[in-house]
Amino acid sequence: MTHTTPSRRTAIVTGAARGIGAAVALRLARDGLAVGVLDLDEADCASTVAAITGAGGSALAVAADVADETAVNAAVARVAEALGPPTVLVNNAGIGPRAPLVEMSTQQWKTVLGVNLSGPFLVTRAVAPHMTAAGWGRIVTMSSISAVSDADRVDYASTKAGLIGFTKSLALQLGPHGVTANAIAPGFVVSDMTRASARRLGLDFEEFRRRAERSIPVGRVGQPEDIAHAASFLISPEAGFVSGQVLYVAGGPVD
Ligand code: NAD
Repeated sequence: MTHTTPSRRTAIVTGAARGIGAAVALRLARDGLAVGVLDLDEADCASTVAAITGAGGSALAVAADVADETAVNAAVARVAEALGPPTVLVNNAGIGPRAPLVEMSTQQWKTVLGVNLSGPFLVTRAVAPHMTAAGWGRIVTMSSISAVSDADRVDYASTKAGLIGFTKSLALQLGPHGVTANAIAPGFVVSDMTRASARRLGLDFEEFRRRAERSIPVGRVGQPEDIAHAASFLISPEAGFVSGQVLYVAGGPVD
């Protein structure tokens, strides 16, 4: 069966106010997509939206906590109405507080699972009907190398491993509708998240970055644009035969 790419494509990128999500939103806009820039606070999305519209693209800021079902459904409906039905989704929003197991509160565990795992479920469930109606779609979900190894974030590691199962199940279920689902597992990427990690570990960011670099085969840490480039490939019409995969973007192999 062949599935035709819609002539006009709309994407939703979650957690797109900054960091990896902002770079992905900008890249997808450059690829010609209209982009729903979703984050916790609408005002925080302004710089991403301005960068897109300033370059001649089309974007809309929408506020939603991805863990809030009502807010997610309203945000997806708003994007569909303003920009057209979303057929590309990048589940990027995520949080990664650090705490050793025995010091981790039950509330922290629940919050991390709510945002990182239930969030992609809620957003994907709201967007998928637009994809199946179009007979075409692309879902990219941010996992992490933490899915394989992370010393002090059992909550975060669990969610990032869970998202790989989520992605493979989506690929099986939605493939017959022309929808692919893949995960990107970034390594160390310079962002507010890694800056916060350095602070929590009591390290100067440059020292934290240099330490990470020493264990990365290509000898550098990642930039948000490295991840955006991978997302651009996975959401492209030409990537229609790539589904259910985890693409490690980490400067080397991960085991
Ligand atoms: P970041 O902290 O710089 O940005 C995350 C964005 O998500 C922020 O704009 C934040 O407001 C938003 N967000 C957080 N909770 C949200 C919620 N409940 N609802 C809506 N938006 C929410 O992080 P980043 O480094 O850009 O990471 C983006 C994704 O990539 C995350 O899923 C993260 O786990 C993953 N990742 C990052 C790295 C890295 O080294 N930076 C490595 C592997 C995976």
